[in-house]
Amino acid sequence: MHTGLEESNDGFKKLSAFYAERVRGGVGLIVTGGFSPNFRGRLHPLSAQFSSGRHARTHRVITDAVHTEGGKIALQLLHAGRYAMHPLAQSASAIKSPISKFAPREMSARQIRSTIRDFAHSAELAREAGYDGVELMGSEGYLINQFICQRTNCRYDEWGGSYEKRIRFPVEVVKAVREKVGHDFIIVFRLSMLDLVEQGSTLEEVVQLAKALEQAGVTIINTGIGWHEARIPTIATQVPRAAFAWVTEKLRGEVSVPLVAVNRINTPDVAEDILSSGQADMVSMARPLLADPEFVKKAEESRADDINTCIACNQACLDHVFKGKRASCLVNPQACYETELVVTPAVRSRKIAVIGGGMAGMSFATTAAERGFHVDLFERKGELGGQFNLARRIPGKEEFNETTRYFSRRVEQTGVNVHLGKEVSAEDLRDYDHIVVATGVKPRMPSIPGIDHPKVVDYMTFIRERKDPGNRVAIIGAGGIGVDVATMITEPEGQTLNDWLADWGIDNNIAHEGGLFPHPNFVAHRQVWLLQRRPGRVGKGPGKTTGWIHKRTLEKRGVEALGGVVYEKIDDQGLHIQLEGQRHILPADTVVVCAGQTSVTEMIPVLAEFGDKVHVIGGAEKAGELDAKRAIRQGIELAIV
Ligand code: NAP
Ligand code: SF4
Repeated sequence: MHTGLEESNDGFKKLSAFYAERVRGGVGLIVTGGFSPNFRGRLHPLSAQFSSGRHARTHRVITDAVHTEGGKIALQLLHAGRYAMHPLAQSASAIKSPISKFAPREMSARQIRSTIRDFAHSAELAREAGYDGVELMGSEGYLINQFICQRTNCRYDEWGGSYEKRIRFPVEVVKAVREKVGHDFIIVFRLSMLDLVEQGSTLEEVVQLAKALEQAGVTIINTGIGWHEARIPTIATQVPRAAFAWVTEKLRGEVSVPLVAVNRINTPDVAEDILSSGQADMVSMARPLLADPEFVKKAEESRADDINTCIACNQACLDHVFKGKRASCLVNPQACYETELVVTPAVRSRKIAVIGGGMAGMSFATTAAERGFHVDLFERKGELGGQFNLARRIPGKEEFNETTRYFSRRVEQTGVNVHLGKEVSAEDLRDYDHIVVATGVKPRMPSIPGIDHPKVVDYMTFIRERKDPGNRVAIIGAGGIGVDVATMITEPEGQTLNDWLADWGIDNNIAHEGGLFPHPNFVAHRQVWLLQRRPGRVGKGPGKTTGWIHKRTLEKRGVEALGGVVYEKIDDQGLHIQLEGQRHILPADTVVVCAGQTSVTEMIPVLAEFGDKVHVIGGAEKAGELDAKRAIRQGIELAIV
């Protein structure tokens, strides 16, 4: 996957360290992030390109690092087509995409031929640079995919019209690449098997293309699911594990080259099920290898419990990349920072007390103990995990269990001394060289008249106790947690994978174009109002790549999202509000308060006498931007100083 290091200063050195660590961790074949075969194909004006001898020479540091560790690596060639965010964008036809503000120009037949030559030339240079193969990006709605589908190809020349003519471009690209690189070089083709957009391919067409690609000389066919403009979640945490392995399976027996399954494969068990049941020949993973570079090795050694599992939150990887920042990982901040966040053995022995066993506390404690410090971790509650113990109770966020499992395991393995159910006093802390306060947050209760009415409950109590809130629920606050609560109370019970696919209108026979049913049925289960004082968009939640999923989920479930609300009071009738100057009563049975948090800081004045031995991290330091990404990273950063 693209990491953002491809374009940054000194990025290749860091990228080499990133890949080398994954090879040591047992990865069989690495595929890089996308490099464009020419200038017009770049995703952004400054995106990475691979088309000259100079590029080949600069990539040597990467291929050498991978080969030194005994691995293999393929360069991904990606032409953005109409997804390019610049005025030189080109595509099969001049049809603007909804995700770029630049309309593409239609490619002339001459430009098509020269683009095919560019792909072949780049592949030849990749070989020169020491790569073991290339992956041709033929999915996710990029240029090759744009030629294949009617949605974006309205040509009537030899490159458009019938399906046969629309697939001519990918087939010619493969033939040209094969001719240049010879037969002992891997060509992976990322084939869009389920477009999830209108006027996408049907299964019959996908099979026809796969056969043509095999004939043209591909070595491996990788699966692509959904265009970037598709409005169906394909990798977010609410997507069930291995939700799309059935798509790859549909091509089994149709071609003889190996088929690779993708998307939401994040544990060895899930991968093993896919392989042993014959759904695919290989599995590919991107985010799980950010979360744990040793995933494969640990799986091989039957140490699945030691794996730091990707929870598919996208918060530090894709959300970063789409904002032009370097990717990392919420649960593993060392990802893509292998040369910067280095854990070294401690020079002097120190005794450290950590107060609070949430993510910040556990992240600090485990890293400090790994360095060789003596660490005592005090947690007032009976379990470790803090806010993650709430998050994991939200339907669709069950993956958060994995993070508490992993960090608890690390606590055991690194020898942190855990004291559960223990309120510490200054007296208990006198003997320590350092005291780390990671006491987290508590819900903010706004001063609305009637806030102490029995129908009002704070989100922590509500999520923990899971009492039936009745048929009408008002949620005060539409941040990440308000959205989570709205999702939780509108979630249909006992959803299977098929229910989930049906809920999003996915045709699991791929008989309809793009694998979409024309009109999916949406069902509302309970009346819910999601409220915020700020005018404007409500209910998107915090993530750039996941906000639209939350919004669409809540729309589908009939949640009424209201911005610009003034809260007046809460009484037996419900929640009284003003909206655009008009008074309304929302006849809520329950009012759930999700109005942010305040830091739990009671310990800080008690510890004043210890001066600069005291360090405050996570939500206890700053509740405003509380999030697990900052908390876990802060814990590591403090522990490695
Ligand atoms: P948040 O995102 O800051 O949202 C707080 C909400 O409460 C806002 O909608 C705010 O809107 C409202 N609010 C604030 N003060 C209020 C007051 N005095 N009276 C009434 N309403 C008030 O906080 P959060 O939802 O509690 O989430 C906490 C953190 O966890 C965030 O950093 C979030 O990113 C993270 N989180 C992430 C996810 C995820 O899926 N990635 C999920 C949950 C939480 P108005 O001020 O406009 O009313
Ligand atoms: Fe997975 Fe979240 Fe890490 Fe991305 S940031 S790799 S989605 S755990």
